[in-house]
Amino acid sequence: ASSFDAVPLAPTDPLFGLMAAYKADTFDRKVDLGVGAYRDDNAKPWILPVVKKAESILANDPNLNHEYLPIAGLPTFTSAAARLILGSDSPAIVENRVTSVQTISGTGAVHLGALFLAKFFPRPQDQKVLISNPTWANHPQIFSNVGLASTTYPYFDPSTKGLDFDGLCSSLESAPEGSVVLLHACAHNPTGVDPTKEQWKRIAEVIRQKKHFPFFDCAYQGFASGDLDNDAWAIRYFVEEGFELCVAQSFAKNLGLYGERAGCFHFVSPPSPNAQDGIKRIASQLAILQRSEISNPPAYGARIANLVLNDGKLFAEWCENLSEMSGRIKSMRTALHDKLVELGTPGDWSHILKQIGMFSFTGLNEKQVLKLREESHIYLTKNGRISMAGLNTHNVEYFATAVDKVVR
Ligand code: PMP
Repeated sequence: ASSFDAVPLAPTDPLFGLMAAYKADTFDRKVDLGVGAYRDDNAKPWILPVVKKAESILANDPNLNHEYLPIAGLPTFTSAAARLILGSDSPAIVENRVTSVQTISGTGAVHLGALFLAKFFPRPQDQKVLISNPTWANHPQIFSNVGLASTTYPYFDPSTKGLDFDGLCSSLESAPEGSVVLLHACAHNPTGVDPTKEQWKRIAEVIRQKKHFPFFDCAYQGFASGDLDNDAWAIRYFVEEGFELCVAQSFAKNLGLYGERAGCFHFVSPPSPNAQDGIKRIASQLAILQRSEISNPPAYGARIANLVLNDGKLFAEWCENLSEMSGRIKSMRTALHDKLVELGTPGDWSHILKQIGMFSFTGLNEKQVLKLREESHIYLTKNGRISMAGLNTHNVEYFATAVDKVVR
């Protein structure tokens, strides 16, 4: 007998289960709209040309070796990552009240932040982290793993397929004072619906009134609008408004470094005469947490990002690569929308054009999703989310026609 006979069988991760089913499907026109990874117009993974250049620079650098990085990661990478998300003229950077730790991509950053909050955020025992409904499926389990329960605030309004702004605000207003609020910085996953600038300002007001703590998760900077600064607007606004906050930053999507696990966790202290002392204490604790979890972060992805972020020419090329990716995704939104309209598919499909980033929340229900899979070999999550990057000029008509069939 094993001491672990009572361990229950856990369900397989729905998204990765979907990927396996897609892989096993032998139909030649099968379509993968599940995982949020960029694909080119031939449905192939895309190594960004700027990343290829950075890789060849690394391969020819005689000074590189496989020694450990420092506990908090590659310093020139983390400081450039902070400038990228906060803006190089950010008051938090100018006043030295940011600390940054290199993490295992965005997931590791959310986890490190959650762990830090579980240990140090002063809150009543039963206080719950507020996450959007819906949100990235990993959010609740990352928090619960460190002993932080979560509860949801309304986010998506199925009737408009847009933001439930009133529901969101009143939920934040009625939450216990001093709650942690998890916010998607841009390109909300899974809905593709972001607040407008005016709405962000109101959200900031409520968060200030209620003394909540904003925790930004930013996995898609540059993917939402194609513009790195624009996609960082909400975070920069909160920093300018003097909030204390933290940011989980991923380079998986915007540099296409999915498997290399390049990311950062940033903590920003509020402006105060003691801010530098405060941030030093926080940095020291983050280093202890990091040490006990992973000791040192992985080097390869960080070195690539470091080159791209710190070299003007490579950075400019990255911006072009980003607009190529976001431009292709936008063109697929138009193509899908126009085809559905042309087919006279029942329903209003304008949300496909309005939603942004990697995903669209189509409004297809679970039954329709299963039908798409069984009848047309099209794979998407059962909440009706599609990864826009899975569509291309060769399959968008096939997909639109299949959708047309299942909604009639
Ligand atoms: N947050 C959100 C909202 C995401 O969508 C993702 C990627 N699916 C992540 C964080 C983290 O991804 P990674 O760990 O690959 O950077």
